[in-house]
Amino acid sequence: MGKVVALKCVTCRKTYDPGEIDYTCPACGPLRGTLEVLYDLDRLRKTFNRESLRTNRTNSHWRYLPILPIEKPEYIQPLAVGWTPLYRSPVFEQQWHLHRVWIKDDGRNPTASYKDRASAVAIVKALEKGATVVTAASTGNAASSWAAFTALAGLETVIFVPRNAPRAKIAQLLLFGARVLQVEGNYDEAFDLCVRAAEQWGWYNRSTALNPYLGEGKKTAALEICEQLNWQVPDVVIVPVGDGCIIQGMWKGFRDFYQLGFIERLPRLIGVQAEGSAPLVRAWEQGSDIAEAVRPRTLADSIAVGIPRDQVKALRAVRESGGKFIAVKDEEILQAVQLLARKSGIMAEPAAAAALAGLKSLVEQGELHEGEQVLLQVTGNGLKDIDGVLQAVSRAPLRIEVSLKAVEQALQQP
Ligand SMILES: [Zn+2]
Repeated sequence: MGKVVALKCVTCRKTYDPGEIDYTCPACGPLRGTLEVLYDLDRLRKTFNRESLRTNRTNSHWRYLPILPIEKPEYIQPLAVGWTPLYRSPVFEQQWHLHRVWIKDDGRNPTASYKDRASAVAIVKALEKGATVVTAASTGNAASSWAAFTALAGLETVIFVPRNAPRAKIAQLLLFGARVLQVEGNYDEAFDLCVRAAEQWGWYNRSTALNPYLGEGKKTAALEICEQLNWQVPDVVIVPVGDGCIIQGMWKGFRDFYQLGFIERLPRLIGVQAEGSAPLVRAWEQGSDIAEAVRPRTLADSIAVGIPRDQVKALRAVRESGGKFIAVKDEEILQAVQLLARKSGIMAEPAAAAALAGLKSLVEQGELHEGEQVLLQVTGNGLKDIDGVLQAVSRAPLRIEVSLKAVEQALQQP
């Protein structure tokens, strides 16, 4: 038997053999029938513990290989994913009277987003399946990440992105050699077209939520947080949310480590959506476990999602953790882009800065207490959406002649 003992449908609870099924539960369909990856934790506990990690010298998320769904590690690609920096921010602690504010910067991954964690796992699963052509639909980050890994593995790659995907992400895709299909529609429409094409031509699909192994890659940030904080878990973890795969993946990570005895408690998870694209916030407020589709309208392209594909797991994760979903305005996101850059030195894309906008909103609503430890998950680098980031600054550079006098005059301007 392999490491993964079963895949379990999150809705009907039926379990499947990992060799039996690739994507979602046929009885419950692609949205309700997402699958959870199960391991033999009792067996794992014997060899995988704090002590085994203490002596592990791997500085990437592969240090957690025992709890990742990899059957053939020889297919792991040599790009260093994870083990991203975790910073303390005394400035935000003082500003908002919090005991600790931590920032985990996943813009530091190989293609500059959190999505590398999932792609690194998905490429191994694709090669284990013997795939030759692979695909994904994405707002941009998942696709550009996938294209890097599939290029490295020598696979043919067909990518579906929405009409409004930022130029830098398109540039990454083209540079990595993917065939890029920019769909005349939004992300949700690109996603559905990708699913149909993958079925039609038998391609391996890395589209989010649909593929059960992506959340396993995405859980590794949570594992790192526990280890980097010397097994002290933050009280609150704030995560930007589009499809919901990152937040549910992080919850799986915290839960896995809790069940294995690495940590003694679990954090509350706060999912932050952009107000113009907040189907999970609405479902949360209505106490529903189904998110009604919306037409997404936000400048934060990475979380501009109208039909959250990982909604069942995401809503359950936040509920189980005792957290909540909140919405922030685009103006608040832009303020957060600037604040994060100037107070922490981290250049985040708008979607990633939504976590900081969420923190500010929680403080203003009186939802956090003075003694609490908060962690912000930054999910993507600002260079990936330079047009979005530029909206966060009001000043343009001053054009001057080559003279000291011109410098002097420029310095006198407000
Ligand atoms: Zn089912």
